[in-house]
Amino acid sequence: MKLLEDRIRKDGKVKAGNILKVDSFLNHQMDIDLFEELGKEFKRRFADCEVTKILTIEASGIGIACITARYFKVPVVFAKKNKTKNIDGDVYTARVESFTHGREYEIMVAKDFLGPEDKVLLIDDFLANGNALLGLSELVVEAGATLVGAGIVIEKAFQKGGRLLRQNGLRVESLAIIESMDEASGVVFRGQD
Ligand code: 5GP
Repeated sequence: MKLLEDRIRKDGKVKAGNILKVDSFLNHQMDIDLFEELGKEFKRRFADCEVTKILTIEASGIGIACITARYFKVPVVFAKKNKTKNIDGDVYTARVESFTHGREYEIMVAKDFLGPEDKVLLIDDFLANGNALLGLSELVVEAGATLVGAGIVIEKAFQKGGRLLRQNGLRVESLAIIESMDEASGVVFRGQD
């Protein structure tokens, strides 16, 4: 998606450890006009699918998921990161290894908000090693719901997540796919000359 690629080129900052900082427009300060375009594009790409719920993970997926949900006209559920060991019985849970923080944490969704009747679209800001999406997929399977696919704003194709998830049969639609990046020369997108 050209609009997004241009914005990443302009405002994205490549950091050590394969991290792209997009804090000024995506996951700290949020450019809602851009989010509208991202939501519209997710709707266009998944136009052939029935979606009853959008599932994301706190915190940085929530804003994008909410704007996207306006186009699908469905509710958003976000998986909570459970910081205590105190788990309520009526929740689905999965464990996720964090890419940015380098530790494992638990995610959970109340059983009231996800069930066998749901057709679920996952939305997240980044796809790196795929652990966040795998954890969310586990919650959907646990709920007996149907997994429609995953909409990702920025996929880093040099990390294994996208390949792994597609090999597992998940439909992944990424709006910007980064082939490579480094601090000196910046970001190279898939399909770029
Ligand atoms: P994964 O689980 O696919 O390894 O990583 C995805 C999660 O890690 C996303 O939810 C996102 O919050 C975070 N993440 C992964 N790579 C980056 C990155 O390059 N920049 C930022 N800002 N977040 C990232």
